[in-house]
Parts: sequence; C-alpha cells; structure tokens
Amino acid sequence: MFSTAKVITTLEEVLGSNHGFIALHEPTIAAREKERVNDCLDSGFVSSVGEYVEHFEQQLADYLGVKYVVAVVNGTSALHIALLLAGVEKDTEVIVPTLSFVATANAVTYCDAVAHFVDAEIGSLGMDAEKLENYLDDILIARGSQWFNRHTGRQIAAIVPMHTFGHPVDMNALNIVAEKYNIAVVEDAAESLGSRYHGEMTGSLSLLAAISFNGNKIITTGGGGAIATNNSALAKQAKHLTTTARIAHRWNVSHDSIGFNYRMPNLNAALGCAQLERMDGFLINKHRLAKTYAEVFSAVPGVQFFTQPDYAESNYWLNVLLLDKTVADQRDKCLAAINEAGMMARPAWTLLHTLPMYQDNPRMADLTVAEDIEKRLINIPSSPFLAAGAQS
Ligand SMILES: *Cc1c(COP(=O)(O)O)cnc(C)c1O
Repeated sequence: MFSTAKVITTLEEVLGSNHGFIALHEPTIAAREKERVNDCLDSGFVSSVGEYVEHFEQQLADYLGVKYVVAVVNGTSALHIALLLAGVEKDTEVIVPTLSFVATANAVTYCDAVAHFVDAEIGSLGMDAEKLENYLDDILIARGSQWFNRHTGRQIAAIVPMHTFGHPVDMNALNIVAEKYNIAVVEDAAESLGSRYHGEMTGSLSLLAAISFNGNKIITTGGGGAIATNNSALAKQAKHLTTTARIAHRWNVSHDSIGFNYRMPNLNAALGCAQLERMDGFLINKHRLAKTYAEVFSAVPGVQFFTQPDYAESNYWLNVLLLDKTVADQRDKCLAAINEAGMMARPAWTLLHTLPMYQDNPRMADLTVAEDIEKRLINIPSSPFLAAGAQS
C-alpha cells in the first residue's frame, strides 16, 4: 500500500538522512568556473564584447552537432527570436504543449501570435504526435500552401515541441506531422541539453532550437540561453536581431530594423565555457542518480519513477515520480511531507491553458493526458552531485 512515509525513507536511502535542505537542482561551481570568470574579469571585457561569447557559441555548436549557435540572455529570449525567424507573425497561431513552463507560451505572445495548446503523451511527457495529427486533420483548411485554423481563420505558423524535464519527445513523428501541413518546427530544448533522440542531440532536430542556461538547468551561465540552427541565413539574422539590429561599422551607430538587446554578456559566456567542459561528468552523475532512484523506487508500491523513452538517452534534468492514479489524491500530502523532511519537491507546472492570461486561447478539447500527468507528478531533487560517488 502507498505511504508517504515510505516515499520519504526511500528518498533518504538515496540522499542520506542527515542533510540540510536539498534543492531541486543546484549549479555545480568548481575551480574551472572561477578560473574562466576571473580571466574574463581580468580582461576587462565583461559585457557585450569579448572572446568568451564566440568561444561558447562554437563549443556549444560542436557539442550539439549543429552548424551555428547564437548565445543570448536567457532561454525565453532564445525562443522569442527563434519563433520570429521561423515566420511567426502577428495573428498567427503556434502549437504549444499545455504541459510546459510558461515561457513556451509567453514567447509566442511576445510575437503577437496566439498559443494554441495541445495534449501530452505518457511515454515521453511531451506532445502527442498522433493526437496532434488527428486534431490538425480536423481543424485545418488549406489556402495555397498554407494551413489555417478553420475556427479562428488564423494561420498555424509553428509547432513547438518541448522535451519535458529532459526526456526527448518523439521528434520524427512530430516532424512528419509538421511536414504534412507545411508548418515550421521550433524545438524548446530549454531543459534537455545533452539528451539524445535516436542518438542525435536534442536542440539539433528542427529548423531552430532554444536552450536555457538558467541557474536551475543542467548547466548555467547565471542567466542565459542559446539559439541553435543549421541554417546560415537564420543564424546571421539571429545574431543581428539579438544585437539591436546594428549595422556593422567602425564608428557609425545605425540600425536597420527593430532589434533586441538580447546578447549574452561575455562574463556569463566565460562561466558557460567552464560548465560545458564539465558536461560529460554532469551527465554521468545525473544518470547514476536516476538509476539509483529507479532501483529503490521499484520496490515502493503506488509510485513509479519515470524513465526515459526507449528511443532516447535523457539528461534526467528533473527526476519525476508518478503516483498511481488510485493514490493521486495523496499528491499534496506527499509534497508537503517531502518538503518538511528537508528535501525540495514540487508538482508539474500548472497547465498553461488554465492560467488566467491563457484560459481563452484555442486548445484541444481533450487535454486529459496532460491533466492526468499534472495530478500525479512530483519532481524530486536532481542535482548531479547528489549521486553516490559523484565526481566533479
Ligand atoms: C527554463 C525554460 C525556458 C526558459 O528559459 P529561461 O532561461 O528561464 O528564460 C523555456 N522553456 C522551458 C520548457 C523551460 O524549462
């Protein structure tokens, strides 16, 4: 039988019972980070000019296996620019999972476009491609080569799959649906740096991708983000738009469109270079921690440790417990007990279509899988250094 006490003793089997407050995900900062940041400070180039930005962009492009990376101030701004470059314009619609962080929908709204919410599937916690295809078959009508929502008259400009808590969504299936309807795909890979889909890095699987380096993500630049693409024209435009659309010149200060001040400062990029150098070690520790959780929770009734889909190698950014449907009503009690025991736990995000600013947006009528996941999901401590025998 399910018991909250058993969940806590099981967590403490992994995390130890004699601990201070354990956060959900903390950055790991070591000597290398201090070296790089100090070097940046000594150089005097701490802001919008300096070598670390280009170095970080190249290092990240190599890591992802993409041709171009443009570093920006955060993951939300990366998503904003990626959507603009994918052709998201005023009064178009963008397909977004309702089970996501609010930034996915906000970035759409920043383009004066409308987020259109769709359901998740239980295997990946991400967008359900089959359900999406059936839905689009039903609601879309063609005008020329473009497809429009016949209920609202608006064009569907993009689909934004998100790799939930680091677990890759079924991108091939989603790309096929997008191709059928000639819709651009922008990956929200904010949480999934280092996760692989059929061996390929998430963030390299669509026209444009957005990644986040916020303090709670798998690597951090303090705050930061990146746009990844294989398209050189889009990469150039991304760089231009994120640097106030300034026309390069030795002394003139002039601009050819309304740009954004979204460039990542050099100081943050220095931190990013050091963090990315340690990525393989972080992943080893993350996998070790997830494996231990999976083992110990296999013996706990009423709760399942969520593991990566068969086609994927996940970064296990935030580890997930799913309560059985029969004990879903114990979720809040369980959350309270884990937090009271000094370990941070939290539920999934409030589904986006229920937030006050998005409750009138277009949506699938049937969002039952996302609703079910939201009711039963608990995120548990996931920092890489929590793994037994973790090395830095
Ligand atoms: C973190 C996150 C973002 C935004 O990243 P920031 O760097 O915090 O702006 C976007 N989408 C998802 C799914 C995220 O988890």
